[in-house]
Amino acid sequence: MVQRFDVSSRFAAGAQFTAGRLGSGTSGRTHTVLDPATGESVLGYELAGPADVGAAVEAAGRALPEWAGATPGERSDAMHRWAAVLRERTGDFVYAESLQCGKPLKLSEEFDVPGSFDNVSFFAGAARQLPGVAAAEYSGDHTSYVRREPLGVIGSVAPWNYPLQMAAWKILPAVAAGNTIVLKPSELTPLTSLMFAEAACEAGIPDGVVNIVSGAGADAGEALVGHPSIAMTSFTGSTAVGRRVAEIATGTVKRLHLELGGKAPFVVFDDADLTAAVHGAVAGALINSGQDCTAATRAYVQRPLYEEFVSGVAELMREVRVGDPFAPGTDLGPLVSHAHRDRVAGFVERARSYATVVTGGEAPGGELAKGAYYLPTLVTDAPQDSEIVQQEVFGPVLTVLPFDADDQGIALANDTPYGLAASAWSRDVFRTGSAAREIRAGCVWINDHIPIISEMPHGGYKASGYGKDMSAYSFEEYTQLKHVMQDTTAQARKDWHRTVFGDR
Ligand code: NAD
Repeated sequence: MVQRFDVSSRFAAGAQFTAGRLGSGTSGRTHTVLDPATGESVLGYELAGPADVGAAVEAAGRALPEWAGATPGERSDAMHRWAAVLRERTGDFVYAESLQCGKPLKLSEEFDVPGSFDNVSFFAGAARQLPGVAAAEYSGDHTSYVRREPLGVIGSVAPWNYPLQMAAWKILPAVAAGNTIVLKPSELTPLTSLMFAEAACEAGIPDGVVNIVSGAGADAGEALVGHPSIAMTSFTGSTAVGRRVAEIATGTVKRLHLELGGKAPFVVFDDADLTAAVHGAVAGALINSGQDCTAATRAYVQRPLYEEFVSGVAELMREVRVGDPFAPGTDLGPLVSHAHRDRVAGFVERARSYATVVTGGEAPGGELAKGAYYLPTLVTDAPQDSEIVQQEVFGPVLTVLPFDADDQGIALANDTPYGLAASAWSRDVFRTGSAAREIRAGCVWINDHIPIISEMPHGGYKASGYGKDMSAYSFEEYTQLKHVMQDTTAQARKDWHRTVFGDR
């Protein structure tokens, strides 16, 4: 259920959240959050600058000893309370997420918001069970055990496409493991990250454990990544910005986790269920208006099914109801901004010179002309090495190409710099098994494309980055291991001393 509220009065104090309080930035520069469906202003706020980042990092540092020193059970209890507070506010989150991103209500209601809240519940449980090897006398003369310790203050940077989910993915494993955090959401979409952090404090998570700085990338983002008191940078965003973030983080010797761009292939073998593949391709390409790092972007279809697949996808795409995110029945909302819509349109316009635009390829007119809308778009005949096949478009655009032999389909799937996600469609377990092994991506779906789940890891291969979000595997990013090796012999002259100063 959506719960509308007045965003300007809710965030009248500002769009920064430090040490448990909403406040204003001090950069002297302002930003206006716009509703991409109308272009109208939602919230004007003063951006965070380096001084605000510094204050947030200090607050997180002050909160660290108490939070890191809490028992896993205490952290878990606090996070369970957090999940309960969040669930009471489901309607507010649905409203704010749809408003700032242009997501159709049913997407916020059924995917973004419940998925994020489920993540809180998952990490509340996982906080009590950090994995490790059992203590034992591995050397014979010592007891060895492993301590899994938090890193300290984490600095995270997130994109605008799934603001709440990205805040959850960054914040939850960090705080479940005893770290404190400063998160920089995209300046375009700060609302739900702020609400998420506020709810943490209301649930009893100490002030300063979760802080939000809403600022621009080149300013607040770089200040956060380069801050000497930040122990780790966790970044989700484009590969281009990820490279810059890696340079800065490397210069200050901090741990780095990079979740970057994607260009997911969708491989359809000739024994696939064609109806399932067509529906899967349209849903997988258009979810969140295609602004999904795992979206199906390149379909490769074995020759016997190719023509029918293209016509089936085109027909279904034309049926998709593009419109006001808050109107019942809307399938597809606008893109996040007019600038991003124009960027997507640019890819398609350039493709016209070397490919066929089967359907879409334009912004809708009439009532929708004022929003950042773009019609579902199908492109065929684009060469494998063309821009539209190789680069991340991040809009409701699918390319389709045919292939002949099975291994050709897999080779084409692997033929981009990215490796975040992929899917393979077939009724033959040997074909799907081979695709699961051979495709170089952090996730391979079989006969589906898109679903994610809190218990399983999400992360890239190749230029899609490294490290994992979600699941207990994410603790590997947010903890460091200490080996404690304790003598059990109580002897002054240890046996191994012979190797240094002669016989005993
Ligand atoms: P982006 O790279 O432009 O920005 C991401 C974040 O980085 C924003 O908060 C931005 O303000 C900040 N930033 C920009 N320049 C910076 C700098 N120099 N230093 C520090 N921070 C800086 O990405 P976007 O346009 O917001 O989001 C779309 C991208 O995110 C796509 O490439 C998409 O594939 C990727 N993404 C990846 C995943 C994943 O899990 N791998 C998930 C969601 C989105």
